[in-house]
Amino acid sequence: GFQYVNEQIHRDIAILANSQHMNLEAQTLISFAESLELSNNYKKISIPWTQPLSKRNRRSLLGYQYCPLCMRANEEARLKISWRFTWSVYCEEHRIPLQSSCNQCGHPYQPQLLEANLRYINHCHHCKANISSYNNELVPLVNEDAYKFQNLANKVCMDGFSYVFGTKVSIKDWFDLMAFYINIVRRGAINPSYMFGKLVKSFGIDIDNIDPPNTGLRLSHLPVHERIDLLGCAIKMDSIDSDEWLERCAELKIKQNSFNWSKQTVVPKSFHIIYKKLPRTHSYRARSFGSAYPKSPDAVMKRWERVKRKNEMKKFYDEARMNYEK
Ligand SMILES: [Zn+2]
Ligand SMILES: [Zn+2]
Repeated sequence: GFQYVNEQIHRDIAILANSQHMNLEAQTLISFAESLELSNNYKKISIPWTQPLSKRNRRSLLGYQYCPLCMRANEEARLKISWRFTWSVYCEEHRIPLQSSCNQCGHPYQPQLLEANLRYINHCHHCKANISSYNNELVPLVNEDAYKFQNLANKVCMDGFSYVFGTKVSIKDWFDLMAFYINIVRRGAINPSYMFGKLVKSFGIDIDNIDPPNTGLRLSHLPVHERIDLLGCAIKMDSIDSDEWLERCAELKIKQNSFNWSKQTVVPKSFHIIYKKLPRTHSYRARSFGSAYPKSPDAVMKRWERVKRKNEMKKFYDEARMNYEK
């Protein structure tokens, strides 16, 4: 009956409450936040490497990640905790990419907006269709590198450490390094014939075929196919040893401050083993131009893509509102 349905929805939706499942989810995310050494206010900020959470009854631009095949059986349809992590891009059981929107109408999957009379959480709140429909003929080949990243990231979380350049590093240091590699790949993909593009290609990583994420959004906000490309490249970067790093940097005249591409850039601790061996440069670029300095075409395009995306998303809400008012 309704009581049961409500319980099920409440158990499955990952928002803080008192049920066991949510406590488990909260515990998992809190302990992950702690291993990233975030301060105690991580309840207010978003935790890196986790998909943003929508508040109960609030609309969100991003859907929850799910595997349509895992959600097939009504009674067993559950949201898995592992799907909350940004590096989760494939279902481990079915080896298909996770989805975050409805196949039928394209709205982000938002189980927190489901009404209890739909009975099960495997429905789209907007068109009410079952979200577990899946066309087997359209299954893309699994990107084994991205899959490898996902497995390794899970392992690092379980073990509590990893190894980088032959040195044992913490969970935080490993994930910081991976985020740094992903940034390098993104920079390379935008400009393949420039320094970082050449560097990444010299490692044998094919960035010509990956679309540079055109929105410039944070990793957790990127659609799954873009995350798959980036994670696949990051795991290959992870296999490059320090000798090869230093050799390639020397060839491409990459210096310490080549890595300071923005004011926010922090060279991760586990990369210092390379960074400290690179030549320093004393020519500091003046940063006083501020907003009067013309933006690069790339920055302008990124902004434009973000505006376009926002408008697209807004359409959904306007539609939803119209339906509601009818
Ligand atoms: Zn599955
Ligand atoms: Zn739908």
